[in-house]
Amino acid sequence: MNKQLQKVLNELPENIAIYLKPIVENQDFYATISAPQFEKLIKQTGLSDKNLRLALLPLAASYSISPISNFCVGAIARGLSGHLYFGANIEFPDAPLGQSVHAEQSAISHAWMKGEQGIQDITINYSPCGHCRQFMNELSTAQSLMVQLPEQDEKSLQQYLPESFGPKDLNINSRLMDNNPLTHTISNGDELLNKAIAALNISHAPYSGNYCGIAIMLNDKSVYCGAYAENAAFNPSLPALQVALIQMQMAGKDFSTISSVALVELKSGKISHQSSTQSVLDTLGVAITLDYLEI
Ligand SMILES: [Zn+2]
Repeated sequence: MNKQLQKVLNELPENIAIYLKPIVENQDFYATISAPQFEKLIKQTGLSDKNLRLALLPLAASYSISPISNFCVGAIARGLSGHLYFGANIEFPDAPLGQSVHAEQSAISHAWMKGEQGIQDITINYSPCGHCRQFMNELSTAQSLMVQLPEQDEKSLQQYLPESFGPKDLNINSRLMDNNPLTHTISNGDELLNKAIAALNISHAPYSGNYCGIAIMLNDKSVYCGAYAENAAFNPSLPALQVALIQMQMAGKDFSTISSVALVELKSGKISHQSSTQSVLDTLGVAITLDYLEI
């Protein structure tokens, strides 16, 4: 467990900490609270659904990697299954600020990579920035998504983003987290390339056609995958590398332990992530040449 998470856990009110510690201190804890665990916590603590989510926010924010701003943002996204997924911001020293990950993107892509196909609600410790409101407007559940902030009434995403621009304005019918996987395969790829292709198959890239996936192997041989999440407004798109790094962050893995990275994208795509992915990797202090494949 990371030190910041342990510190936050120890600082929670005793009547909450006593029930949370067995979950969070379990070695299999992966920044996720299952629906049955959450229901049980509501009964044990006597807190409302909203107040329990707000009480969990400091735990999510403890995952923040923010060496530039020192501003720790935490988010908790509840998937359609009822499970809750933590997320936190990531900043990359020596990379352009546009490569940063916002906490909402983190929690949502965490849920996505764990198999969720939509988000019911998101709880955040600060008001969502315009970039994140636009990012969330791409979701399969953008019309029903609810947003909860501390000391405020719950509001819908559409209340936070009136007169929105989105996929429908570009005549796009698919949405981020839709369950409509592609079926690309290769005949003799290694394990890492095949996992990157599996991520590519769930990626969302209807604007550029550059469906794209990444798989990262660590020194301990564990693998973390990321699918590309494109956005109608282009700039809030979240690269596959960042999505994979979020999975590492939520598993408590250090970026310095990356041993190899595979990126697969489509030849027919109108853009490429090859150079920007290598460029961000170079800032992580790991001397790795991307294993790159176009299919
Ligand atoms: Zn944001």
